[in-house]
Amino acid sequence: MDTFRPDLYRDPDLVAGLAAKIAGKAAQIGRKVKIMHICGTHEHEMGRHGLRGLLPENVEVLAGPGCPVCVCDQLYIDQAIALSQEPGVILASFGDMLAVPGGVPLEGERRGDVRMSLLDARARGGDVRAVYSVFDAVRIAHENPDKEVVFFSVGFETTVVAVAALLLRGAPAELSILEANYYTPPATRLLPSLPGFDIDAFLLPGHAAAVTGIRIYEHLPREHGIACAAAGFEPVDQLAGILAVLRQIAAGEPRLENAYPRVLAEDGNVKAQEKLFRVFELVPKRWRGIGVIPESGFDLLPEFDRWSARERFKGLLPEARREGEHPRGCRCAAVTLGQSKPSECPAFGAMCTPDDPYGPCMVSGEGTCRAWYLYGAGDGSLEVRA
Ligand code: SF4
Repeated sequence: MDTFRPDLYRDPDLVAGLAAKIAGKAAQIGRKVKIMHICGTHEHEMGRHGLRGLLPENVEVLAGPGCPVCVCDQLYIDQAIALSQEPGVILASFGDMLAVPGGVPLEGERRGDVRMSLLDARARGGDVRAVYSVFDAVRIAHENPDKEVVFFSVGFETTVVAVAALLLRGAPAELSILEANYYTPPATRLLPSLPGFDIDAFLLPGHAAAVTGIRIYEHLPREHGIACAAAGFEPVDQLAGILAVLRQIAAGEPRLENAYPRVLAEDGNVKAQEKLFRVFELVPKRWRGIGVIPESGFDLLPEFDRWSARERFKGLLPEARREGEHPRGCRCAAVTLGQSKPSECPAFGAMCTPDDPYGPCMVSGEGTCRAWYLYGAGDGSLEVRA
């Protein structure tokens, strides 16, 4: 593996060369090609670097369910909000999670169907703190031995590994984990079965695959004839991934390809996988806007129950999911599945902006609506504001 060199991976000549090869391969294919990524960082970086603008007209890259904040079930958010209102509880979570609306209506608001977020919970007196990792939550627990610290753990396998490593090492008794942890590969089993699914290729998430490896996605080419390449995030990485899948499509030979070899081993990080599955088990999980996907979430194994917020606060957590998965009129469900563009939502840029988000996809830096609001659509049809 070589060293990370942003100058190399953003090199204009390399980028132009890859764009030319992509144009040539797309011309050879001679029909519309749809590529889906399932990674919020891919979407963010694609927008930030204007990569869609470098692609030929017949190559479209769509965002799939790759933002953990966006797919986090509203019930988990409601549970985190409920805990934050308990006396003596400090609720810690990633900053991106704090503005995401749950299912509880926010009374007194005039616009639309506005729901309560953890920021609103903080405004109502809850001790809600933004953290960068579970280790910040540990520090808060050490500093507040008379309090209960709940880490609202929202993320994919990359995030969950850190929690597993912590619990194997031992964590403060005052700390507990509220799991909203998602596992990417099972979502790619569900997507091809959805009505109208017409994706030719997947750009697999480089960092999640660095944990799991790529063989876990073997079903995509084998069962569905979908071309696949795991890709990194810099312009050269993403364009190399796109070129890899176009080559497979042109040759009529869909397969798994590692287009991120400087980081990604085909078998992934075996030590990280071993830690992950010593602490967590795979369970069915509800993805917001998608539904329940078998074995797509991580819950703590029973032997780690002493750190489970659900066990510790049994009876205090709401268990019923409220009506309406997303606020009324929000199209995040379709955006998350690549079936709608953010700009097709009437609320986009009007009653829904990064400063005042109405739906979950406008909140996180990995949300598709937020990326499109900041960086445009890549075809000049939207103002670029970042
Ligand atoms: S712009 Fe996006 S996040 Fe906002 S309401 Fe529409 S679909 Fe939902």
